[in-house]
Amino acid sequence: MSSNSPNHVLIVGSVAFDTVQTPAGRVERALGGAAVYSSVAASFFCPVRMVGVVGDDFPAEHMDFLRSRKIDTRGIQVIPGGKTFHWAGSYEGDMNQANTHATELNVFESFSPELPEDYKTSEFVFLANIDPTLQLHVLDQVAKPKLTACDTMNLWISIKKDALLEVLKRVDVVFINDAEARQLTGEVNLTRAAASIHKLGPKYVVLKKGEHGAMMYCTDRMCFAAAPYPLDAVADPTGAGDSFAGGFMGYLASTGEVSDANIRKAVVYGSTMASYNVQDFSLNRFKKLTIQDIDARYEEFKRIVFFEGI
Ligand code: AMP
Repeated sequence: MSSNSPNHVLIVGSVAFDTVQTPAGRVERALGGAAVYSSVAASFFCPVRMVGVVGDDFPAEHMDFLRSRKIDTRGIQVIPGGKTFHWAGSYEGDMNQANTHATELNVFESFSPELPEDYKTSEFVFLANIDPTLQLHVLDQVAKPKLTACDTMNLWISIKKDALLEVLKRVDVVFINDAEARQLTGEVNLTRAAASIHKLGPKYVVLKKGEHGAMMYCTDRMCFAAAPYPLDAVADPTGAGDSFAGGFMGYLASTGEVSDANIRKAVVYGSTMASYNVQDFSLNRFKKLTIQDIDARYEEFKRIVFFEGI
């Protein structure tokens, strides 16, 4: 994999301070947010254009880090006197479910994403976790993307379902975890849940199952399964889903090819990025990661699922 791609990924979502407690430790107001995890993951593959909002309490060192990853930050609004979004959560036991302790929207309360002119022709668009009405506002501004994708969370399924259904009608790919898929559809069985989400609009439904890997539903059936990567220790699952989506979108943009075969590879690159991210808190694992590490783990994924035919 090389990162000399001509295609950009446009990513909108939260930019956050995260306070996170897991059995492995705790961080206070560390760099986080769905757009940050997904943009940094995608940046290993292709150039990224980021859209979000922060307050003037957002440290220059975080902005410098994003720019050092060749992420275009012109789409991040800095609100004078504003406070950056803050999320606090914890994980216990198998760490498959986050317990939210605080969601301080702060500058998100009055945010309206406005895209710089040259962002509007981006071919690959990822609507990371954010209020679905804002996701729609971004979709309204992009010209003719080759591929659009979205993520969401339990909060928006509960309080903004109509807007979310509108987003689903308009995207090609949805990333959703098992609990959210059940909540959205009322189906306990995940195959049925995926089938009913597929009917809502997206051609590809990517079901993330935490430590159990990922499955993809397309056309009229479950069409691909990625094995979980066997990690012997998880430090912090925050941002796993966003890292997955960033790796998936970044890989596709780097090749420019949207085919079923390439989308399967994208699922494995997504799984690779998620598996690295959870090995440390905040963006710490990504700060040390190389493209060689990514390719090596991609090959490991291939090795562990290979089997001979009958
Ligand atoms: P994930 O673990 O991939 O589901 O996403 C974790 C990220 O989502 C954290 O870095 C949080 O800052 C962010 N987050 C939590 N709640 C919200 C919310 N209501 N809107 C947008 N982002 C959120």
